[in-house]
Amino acid sequence: MFESDAPDPLPTQSAIPAASGFEDDEPPSLPRRHSLWANVPDAQWNDWRWQTQNSVRSVRQLRNLLPFAPDELEAIGRLEADFKLAIPPYYFSLIDPTDPADPIRLQSVPSPLEAVSGYELEDPLEEDKDSPVPGLTHRYPDRVLMITTPNCSMYCRYCTRKRATLTRGGWEGVSADDERMIEYVRKTPAIRDVIVSGGDPLTLPIGKLRYYLENLKAIDHVDVIRIGTRVPVTLPQRLFDNELVDLLASAEKVYIQTHFNHPREITPEAARVCKTLLRAGMPINNHSVLLKGVNDDLGTMRQLLRGLLRIKVRPYYLFHCDPVTGAGHFRTSVWKGLQIMEGLRGHMSGIGIPTYVVDSPHGGGKIPLMPNYMVSMSDDAVVLRNYEGMLVRYQAEDKPTSGTPTATRGVSNLLQGSQTQLMPEGSERMARRRAIQIAEHTEAMETHGCGGDSHHEHAGNDGAALRPGVSLPVLAAAHANGNGHANGNGYKNGNGYGAHD
Ligand code: SF4
Repeated sequence: MFESDAPDPLPTQSAIPAASGFEDDEPPSLPRRHSLWANVPDAQWNDWRWQTQNSVRSVRQLRNLLPFAPDELEAIGRLEADFKLAIPPYYFSLIDPTDPADPIRLQSVPSPLEAVSGYELEDPLEEDKDSPVPGLTHRYPDRVLMITTPNCSMYCRYCTRKRATLTRGGWEGVSADDERMIEYVRKTPAIRDVIVSGGDPLTLPIGKLRYYLENLKAIDHVDVIRIGTRVPVTLPQRLFDNELVDLLASAEKVYIQTHFNHPREITPEAARVCKTLLRAGMPINNHSVLLKGVNDDLGTMRQLLRGLLRIKVRPYYLFHCDPVTGAGHFRTSVWKGLQIMEGLRGHMSGIGIPTYVVDSPHGGGKIPLMPNYMVSMSDDAVVLRNYEGMLVRYQAEDKPTSGTPTATRGVSNLLQGSQTQLMPEGSERMARRRAIQIAEHTEAMETHGCGGDSHHEHAGNDGAALRPGVSLPVLAAAHANGNGHANGNGYKNGNGYGAHD
């Protein structure tokens, strides 16, 4: 059923549908269908077998469903002999046919750029070199990866394992030996975590999947079985099938590793199957790949991550796109990835922030990257930067200062302890804090019976004369002593930062 080279069942159609105007959708997206399938009964549309049988699998079909430049069609026609193509009607319908740079289209429809390759490699992560038995990669001490099938419900054009999935005939080179893979895990007690991947293991015949799950469940030292699947995103109908969900749940150790890349993929159907999996006791983690033109901007990434939180899928990793042959056009700079991460931390809930990783060439494994939050350090303290750009001295241990202070400025002042923070001008948070202080200050004056315009003069109309680091007790004490307000020492120090002590 999931064989990628099934015959073309899709009739041709010349009309290109009009824009559906879903640019403004908030996730989850609205249900939608390409006009070709508008009259398909719901019972068929919701049947994964129908979706699979009617997947778009040829350039001839694509030509009738989307606009292409003539040379583009010719170029992707030439690629067809080498690389597979499959897009279920459900996933295809998420494409805006009027937008040649539509993010769903970019992920699923072949591009002439797939013929271009410079730096990229067939097996960029050298998985095959870390393969003690066919199909199994043992890279980290306690984890292994099993490549169980070359088939996927949709072939992502940037796939890291393209050599086994998209490339016609590629599976022969990778292959897998089910029994030897299971036996390797059984006789290697260090293995705690098995990633059952592919291709997509949820395209396996149910009997084959049962074989893997029952055998892995029975191995005592295996604590975790991770199912790496894009089915919730590209063919959620497969998980409308209770038999499959029951099988996954019965293995007890199963975590789902799925792969949403764009907020428009978070549809009611995807939300439904994630809810089903969660109710059946399977945690869901998401891997996104940073893809040029798909999700390499902060707004899209925030929308994606917030959408995932709404359906209780944990954003786990944001992968830099691997240097795989023919996917160079999806790759952006590490700087872009860091810029996006900089716009996430502190600006949205920490539970929605994935770890940004580069999967190292030469089989070096995942290397986490993040913006630099530690600016400097000494024996006594570190200088840290927060999401606003505030620089702060942080003394982790309670011990006497070891150095002799010298006349220094800026970050050195923080290290030596003569200041404890540097705050960028115009901070929204400090403006909020000032407003709170003004309110508290006014209340304190009223409590002490010192109402009157003379006190308010000090705060000014916007409270800017109040010292941001000063708390209510200090202000109240100032009033109680009859000394007027705490004396601010100004914010600017000439470098765009305000020193608050
Ligand atoms: S679903 Fe996964 S294995 Fe299949 S093509 Fe996409 S990225 Fe590759």
